[in-house]
Amino acid sequence: MKIGILALQGDFHEHQTCFNKLEVDTQLVKSIEELNKCDSLVIPGGESTTISKLLVSTKIDKVLTKKALEGFPVWGTCAGLILISNKVIENDPKPLKLINITTSRNFYGRQIDSFVEKINFEDDDYEAIFIRAPKIVDTKKDIEILSSTNDGTPVAVKSNNIFGTSFHPELTDDLRIHKMFVDMTSNK
Ligand code: GLN
Repeated sequence: MKIGILALQGDFHEHQTCFNKLEVDTQLVKSIEELNKCDSLVIPGGESTTISKLLVSTKIDKVLTKKALEGFPVWGTCAGLILISNKVIENDPKPLKLINITTSRNFYGRQIDSFVEKINFEDDDYEAIFIRAPKIVDTKKDIEILSSTNDGTPVAVKSNNIFGTSFHPELTDDLRIHKMFVDMTSNK
């Protein structure tokens, strides 16, 4: 099993470190050829407009959308969550529409307004790091909400093979969420 990590821009190395700790094989993905070697893909945090442009210029966008429809697991974190959503309130970037949620970019303000909040994941405390995080402003019926912040905002959502988090699990030592994606990849 090989987990792909989109490596066009953003904090892909941090994700790779987490999967290394779990002793799972990874592939940094910058081309369709590299994507085709993988059993799933993580879209990391970064700048969603930049990643979007690069997804289009490498033509990875079309191949990934087709694969996702066929059951290929995809996990978007932060900028990656914006990119997998069905609709982005600001209409920029144009998302891939892989999961039936609406997101709003930079909802919590600028870099300086980044924060850590204790949430609950798999019945245990989890320290979630939010950096210029998007807010999930709408979820349709088919969406499983795995975690929310204290004000009831969903921050980890799943629909079949598509998973999204508005925070950054790759920046903590808690590997439970990476482990969950490993399980999603091996059970597909
Ligand atoms: N706000 C950024 C964007 O719109 C995402 C920030 C992040 O990934 N940490 O792309």
